[in-house]
Amino acid sequence: MSKQLTIAIIGGGAAGFFGAITCAHANPTYRVIIIEKVRQVLAKVRISGGGRCNVTHACFDPALLIQNYPRGGKELRGPFSRFQPRDTIQWFESHRVPLKVEEDGRMFPTTDSSETIVNCLMQQARASKVELWTERGVLDCQKTLEGFQLKLTNDEVLNCDRLLIATGSSTKTHAWLEMLGHTIAPPVPSLFTFNVPNSPLLELAGTSVSKAKVSIEGTSLQQIGPLLITHWGFSGPAILKLSAWGARILYDMKYRAIMRINWLPDLSVNDIKDQLMAYRQSSAIRQLSTESPFPFSKNLWKAFLMMASISHELKWAALSNQNINSLIEILHAGSFQIDGKSTYKDEFVTCGGINLQEINFKTMESRICANLYFAGEVLDIDGVTGGFNFQNAWTTAWIAGKAMAG
Ligand SMILES: Cc1cc2nc3c(=O)[nH]c(=O)nc-3n(C[C@H](O)[C@H](O)[C@H](O)COP(=O)(O)OP(=O)(O)OC[C@H]3O[C@@H](n4cnc5c(N)ncnc54)[C@H](O)[C@@H]3O)c2cc1C
Repeated sequence: MSKQLTIAIIGGGAAGFFGAITCAHANPTYRVIIIEKVRQVLAKVRISGGGRCNVTHACFDPALLIQNYPRGGKELRGPFSRFQPRDTIQWFESHRVPLKVEEDGRMFPTTDSSETIVNCLMQQARASKVELWTERGVLDCQKTLEGFQLKLTNDEVLNCDRLLIATGSSTKTHAWLEMLGHTIAPPVPSLFTFNVPNSPLLELAGTSVSKAKVSIEGTSLQQIGPLLITHWGFSGPAILKLSAWGARILYDMKYRAIMRINWLPDLSVNDIKDQLMAYRQSSAIRQLSTESPFPFSKNLWKAFLMMASISHELKWAALSNQNINSLIEILHAGSFQIDGKSTYKDEFVTCGGINLQEINFKTMESRICANLYFAGEVLDIDGVTGGFNFQNAWTTAWIAGKAMAG
């Protein structure tokens, strides 16, 4: 009788569970074990999306989908043609977890509770006879003739034939992954908001504009999208995207940089000038602060006047050409000194991880060490906010699970 193969999966997060279930389901004759260092599995799924779990994003064209990954987009093109958000939706629905889409494309379980996703993954792991070893961290991993030998925290040793690394952003595994021949892009944070302690807009915290263009001086980094003024600086989709695409550059700049904000990205300098001059004529006897000539709240408009050193009480007729130029400078390329970063609703992702050139994306197997597979955030892949990070976990884990079962 042939020996039963053992598949070990290190990490009981989204990628570890999805890889284990896929593998055990595809080949029920294998022994599949998830090894998790802490007591509670799926901890990040539980707290994700503010407790609602933003499972994926309603974007079904792989060519568009990859544009949401500052790192790993190119490599995910092939995997997304095999398992993409449509497959995620179908997978959860086939396990009695319908998902719903919100206006901005984010997808959540209809229960609005991450517990539904946790329960579903736990049930499917049980149904597929996946063994769950918790409170057992893997301390070391050696390649053997037949596969791998894992040394666990409680002095246990586990021999396995195939190994999936799904340890997320934990850096403790890096030493032995390097011993197995892999290189690791140094981890730095992604998805954060900007601290601008000297911003004259802090008092307007909670005010947002639907479209602004933000850029970092001295770099080619720029993003367009909704912008939110916070108590500590700026947040909102435009900033989060900028932080993700600029994760490494901003880290190198020690999170100190000049940010330029174009508050009217659809208008040229001449358009803004024409509009201000037209107002000067049509509203000549009215005070500047009475109403904003642009789609800003009255308070934000007043703040811009203050930043341009123009009195609120001035009448439009008295607005000088120099005043107009100052306002244009602030509206078109307002300058703000970033000094530090803050986490966004506790959601953060790590940029960095296993070098993608060392992975075969048809199987998620290492090109360096046979029978070694990777899935999820341990890879040098990260997405912007909106469900893209879980989609990376589902896709890479599904491919690894299928390949390990083969
Ligand atoms: C607060 C928060 C909210 C988020 N919300 C969303 C969201 O709504 N949508 C979205 O797409 N993304 C979200 N993300 C990102 C998303 O959670 C991660 O990208 C995703 O969980 C990565 O899954 P993973 O399985 O690769 O890693 P993880 O979920 O980090 O799992 C790795 C597991 O490996 C274990 N482990 C590590 N080392 C060892 C070892 N040596 N031995 C044994 N076990 C080990 C860890 O304990 C952990 O349980 C959020 C992140 C945070 C922090």
